[in-house]
Parts: sequence; structure tokens; C-alpha cells
Amino acid sequence: MKEQHVALKTLNTFGIEVFANELYTFHNVDELISILKEIKDTPNLILGGGSNILFTKNCDVPLLLNRIKGISIDFEDENSITLKVGAGEVWHELVLYCIENNYAGLENLSLIPGRVGASPMQNIGAYGVEVKDLIVKVEAIDKKSLQLIYFTNSECEFAYRESVFKRKYKDKFVITHVYFKLSKNPKINTSYGAIEAELQKNGITQPTIKDVSNAVINIRQSKLPDPNIIGNAGSFFKNPTITIDLLQKIIINYPDIPHFKLEAETYKIPAGWLIENAGWKGKTYDCYGVHKNQALVLVNYGGATGKQIIDLSQAIIDDIKDKFSIELEREVNVF
Ligand SMILES: Cc1cc2nc3c(=O)[nH]c(=O)nc-3n(C[C@H](O)[C@H](O)[C@H](O)COP(=O)(O)OP(=O)(O)OC[C@H]3O[C@@H](n4cnc5c(N)ncnc54)[C@H](O)[C@@H]3O)c2cc1C
Repeated sequence: MKEQHVALKTLNTFGIEVFANELYTFHNVDELISILKEIKDTPNLILGGGSNILFTKNCDVPLLLNRIKGISIDFEDENSITLKVGAGEVWHELVLYCIENNYAGLENLSLIPGRVGASPMQNIGAYGVEVKDLIVKVEAIDKKSLQLIYFTNSECEFAYRESVFKRKYKDKFVITHVYFKLSKNPKINTSYGAIEAELQKNGITQPTIKDVSNAVINIRQSKLPDPNIIGNAGSFFKNPTITIDLLQKIIINYPDIPHFKLEAETYKIPAGWLIENAGWKGKTYDCYGVHKNQALVLVNYGGATGKQIIDLSQAIIDDIKDKFSIELEREVNVF
């Protein structure tokens, strides 16, 4: 389906008021191939739930809205099941489907906004789980050759909020289906964040995957702004990795800086801590700013432009660089 001059306000969770000159919606691989044939080699943009994108201008290239649905069984044995899932399925609905059927693995990733097709793009993660741990393979269409290509888990080159689709093959493929391997013998993972405390608060000592999912939902709802009420795209920045030398220098002035050891003498630092300690948390400019409870989340209170948000993010990046010698990287995709 092709529409012209379409308002994108409700198609991006930042609620930025821009337009797409041409919006094509596809519901299956054949429709996608027809659209790609029609637009030939014109550069284009794929959109899922619009929860990890900041529009800084009108979309002047064809916008392709992925609405491929369907969940089917690809493989099953007594211990596991592999589901083939349409890239246009709503992520949280897939999580709920798995919980209903007692397929374990995705419960810690409850309530992440967006569609299934974007999940491998940036290897979504939350509460100690990354989607790379569950993905068997990714089916995608090569935009140029129109061939259907399968990427194994290792070919996806997953890393922290990264994959081959975000880097080496940026804009080269449209993800059409994702295959997830889930367990029929749940191994509950409650060690991260406040999950354990949330379960205890509710008197749950032997949690099911549904209990874990509910705990994650409660924590997320209490911590993160609901994009239906306040425009945002979740964490705007990635947590940076720094060397031990830099960490030792920062610790002289900031002995409380949280740091988590990775391999090879490097440390991960919570970007939210840096932003908060630089005094940005809660800063508000007219109709946009930094969320009052979550320094990592930039917000649009209504009517902000993408340019205002991107300029704010740049001011934060510059200030963090100045104060801590750390270069923050944006997690959100900017158009
Ligand atoms: C309140 C809130 C909380 C969040 N919490 C988390 C969290 O805990 N963990 C986390 O990892 N993320 C989180 N996010 C970010 C976001 O939800 C995820 O990145 C999600 O996977 C984005 O999905 P989407 O369908 O909305 O992607 P979109 O925003 O539509 O697209 C994101 C990028 O992927 C590309 N893309 C989308 N679909 C396809 C496709 N089928 N083929 C090729 N390219 C494609 C787009 O072109 C774009 O560059 C949060 C966002 C919000 C608003």
C-alpha cells in the first residue's frame, strides 16, 4: 500500500511532527519485493515501531513500514522450540505469546517497545539478557539483489547494542523474519537489577517466567516514561567502555563512579551516571529536555523538533567529553 504526505507523529515514539513524502506498507516478502522493484535503487528507510529513531527532518526518501506478521514453529523437540516470527510482530506481544505457552528466554525483555525486525538490528537487551542469546538466524532481503539471505547467529556479529545490520550492512537489508530458540525447561534469571526485590515484595519465592515478566513490567513502568504520554526513545546514549588508565584518572575526582570490568582491562561506565553527575538530569528547555528520573532518556513534552533533541544530545556529548574525557555515543538512530 502506498500513501503520500503521511504524518509520522504517531509512527515514532519521540512524537516528532514530520512527514513522509511516500509511505509504503508491506505485509509479506512478496509485497516488499514489489515495492523494492518499484522504487528501484532509490535510497529508502525501513520503519518498525519507530521507538529507536529520531527524525530531524521530513522523510524525503521512500519510507517502508514493516508489518510482516506471523508466528510459526520451525523446529521442536522435548527441550526447546524454535519460532519463526514475522519482523512486523509487536515485540511485547511475542514475549507474551511465549510466556502463555511456557517458552522461556524472552521474559526479561518484556515491555521493550518496537517490532521484532528491529530486535537483531541493535541486539536489544534488558535485565541481564540480550536478544543475541535467543536468536538462531535472521532472514533478510538484500535491497539490491532482492535475494532472500539467511544470517546465522555468528554472521549477525552481535555485540552490545550492535550487529552487522547496524554497521557493515547498514541500509543494505530488510529483516523479514527472525528465528528464536526458546527453552521448555525455564532457567529463571533474576540476578539483574531489582527483579529479585520486586519478586520478594510480592511474596514470590519460586518464580515462573510469567512472574519474572510481571516483575520486569512493574519495574519498567515505575522507572521509564511511557512514550504514549511523554515522547522518548528509551536510552538515548550507549554505556561507554573506557580503559583502566582513564578510569584511574576519573576516580581521583569522582571516587564513587560506578564501573564494571569487561575483558582486557576495560570498564563499562553507566552513561546515566555521567549525565546525572554533569548536572543534566531533569534539565528542561521549553518543550523538551532530559527526563527528571532517568538521565539517559531525552524527552519531547510535545512540539519539540528533532533538531532541538539532537542539539541537546550534542551539548551533553560535548559536556561529558569536557568533564570526563569520555565520548558518549548515541544509541538512537538519527534520520
Ligand atoms: C520507553 C522505551 C524503552 C526502551 N527500552 C529498551 C531496552 O530496555 N532495551 C533496548 O535494547 N532497547 C530499548 N528501547 C529501544 C527500542 O525499543 C528498541 O531498539 C526496539 O528494538 C526498536 O524497535 P522498532 O521496531 O521501534 O525500531 P525502529 O525505531 O522502527 O527502527 C530502528 C532502526 O532499525 C531499522 N529497522 C527497523 N526494522 C527493520 C527491519 N525489519 N529491517 C531492517 N532495518 C530495520 C530502522 O531503519 C532504524 O534504523 C526502548 C525504547 C523506548 C521508547
